[in-house]
Amino acid sequence: MESLKARIETLTQEIKSIVPANAEELEAYRIRFLGTKGLVRDVFGGMKDVPAEQKKEAGQLLNAFKQLAEAHYESFSHLQQGNAGNASFADFSLPGADIALGTRHPLRIVENKIVEIFERLGFAVAEGPEIEDDWHNFTSLNMPEDHTARDMQDTFYVAQNPDWLLRTHTSSVQARVLEEGKLPVRVICPGRVYRNETISARAHCFFHQCEGLYIDENVSFADLKQTLYAFVTEMFGPDIRVRFRPSYFPFTEPSAEMDISCTVCGGSGCSLCKHTGWVEILGCGMVHPDLLRNFNIDPEKYSGFAFGMGVERITQIRYQVNDLRLYSQNDVRFLRQFTTNT
Ligand SMILES: [Zn+2]
Repeated sequence: MESLKARIETLTQEIKSIVPANAEELEAYRIRFLGTKGLVRDVFGGMKDVPAEQKKEAGQLLNAFKQLAEAHYESFSHLQQGNAGNASFADFSLPGADIALGTRHPLRIVENKIVEIFERLGFAVAEGPEIEDDWHNFTSLNMPEDHTARDMQDTFYVAQNPDWLLRTHTSSVQARVLEEGKLPVRVICPGRVYRNETISARAHCFFHQCEGLYIDENVSFADLKQTLYAFVTEMFGPDIRVRFRPSYFPFTEPSAEMDISCTVCGGSGCSLCKHTGWVEILGCGMVHPDLLRNFNIDPEKYSGFAFGMGVERITQIRYQVNDLRLYSQNDVRFLRQFTTNT
């Protein structure tokens, strides 16, 4: 009995130390311990030498040993050839895991809408770099160095080269289009712009603009008004009224700000329109002759108009968003409110 106990103890230690790494090693274990000539069966053969009064205790020991040997084998059953195939079997007919769908950013929804309207009016989209040089961003647009108009746009300059800056408006793209010298020009320039502003509900260090430029023979202020009127009625509905107020921009003469009747109160007065009934949406004007000359275009022959609007401003009016910071905080509770197919 004592020798049987000792043998079971030794074999138990051996079993615990065996860690098969593949199907062959597992099979070798099975043959050694669980096979028809294996050690488990061999140890059971020792029962006949156990005295009758100890047979019950010996039977329990042997059964426990056999279960341990079998359990050890089962714990590596994933190594078996057949099971390995089953483990990697995938049922491709099962429904897939849900993929979370995002929504378009409200600024992109509005920018797409602006572009779509102007494309229908015959404008092509033009794009340009966000890091610009002084010529394209300022000087070519009638804003030479020391011109006071530069003070209207606090600018980020690139330390590596004082001539480089983050564009303060997408008018720089218009400069690049005019540089190509192909007339007539009818482009819309959407994009991100940068200004050194303190971030608040009403100002941000980056925002988005959509500017437009139309240059051809015999383009008049009437064309400007009609084009922009067509735009706002498409954007805000046919009941929108417009008004133009004289303004100043260095690259246009005459220049105007365009207001629309308030989309919230319809003109009776509310917080959006600051109780005036009117909401400012864009600046515009006839392209300054000096600007045309900067690009070797004859102002006696050609004329044109330009306009520029803030995408955030249009979005604010359309969705009544009253804090600019919401657009760049990536808060999904805000972003999920905007769903669209466009
Ligand atoms: Zn109002």
